Amino acid sequence: MRILLIEDEKRLSHYVKKGLTESGFAVDTAYDGEDGLYLAKEETYDAIILDVMLPKLSGVEVCKQLRATSKNTPVIMLTARGETEDKISGLESGADDYLTKPFVFAELKARINALIRRNYHQTSNNLSISDLEVDPLKHTVKRSKILIKLTPKEFAILELLLRRKDEVVTRTQVIEHVWDYNFDSMSNVVDVFMGTLRKKIDRSHKIKLIHTLHGVGYMISDKPPKV
Ligand code: CA
Repeated sequence: MRILLIEDEKRLSHYVKKGLTESGFAVDTAYDGEDGLYLAKEETYDAIILDVMLPKLSGVEVCKQLRATSKNTPVIMLTARGETEDKISGLESGADDYLTKPFVFAELKARINALIRRNYHQTSNNLSISDLEVDPLKHTVKRSKILIKLTPKEFAILELLLRRKDEVVTRTQVIEHVWDYNFDSMSNVVDVFMGTLRKKIDRSHKIKLIHTLHGVGYMISDKPPKV
């Protein structure tokens, strides 16, 4: 899943980005409201972490202007302790949730997961198909109850496929949701990751779950796709 982090405090931004990246998220960063709004409008994100106090354009203003477009990317706002006004104006501007600084990283991650889940219309934190179970919070993957070790990128691809199970996910969508802004979309790295992911998930199992639809994209399904 791909996150935009709009936060001007460099140390906090670095800390959050590092934590999210280690959890398999692709993260783009902006350090002021204008840059943040530009990226939020132009790129595709699964969630936006938005600080309220920002140079050039406040978080509240960024959210208002974003909501004035057709983008309804989930937004979690970071507010200062005790600033009830910030929370109210943040939610009024169209933010979906807020978190008061200072916060524990695990809480931010749990809130982001909840927002993403809601956005993909999922009710449970557990993503599963057939005998494959994925827990985005604990970052575990099991097939037939046996733990499978995935790299953060493999995990991110699998999570995206599962959030859209039985639907085709195009190569471009994989890139948009799993890699950050600096990704070279001409490279064949997606195919390489799909290959290793498929081996780890399907190789020793009779029922194949990950399917390639040539020229179209990928799908996770326990039924072979009809194309
Ligand atoms: Ca700030």
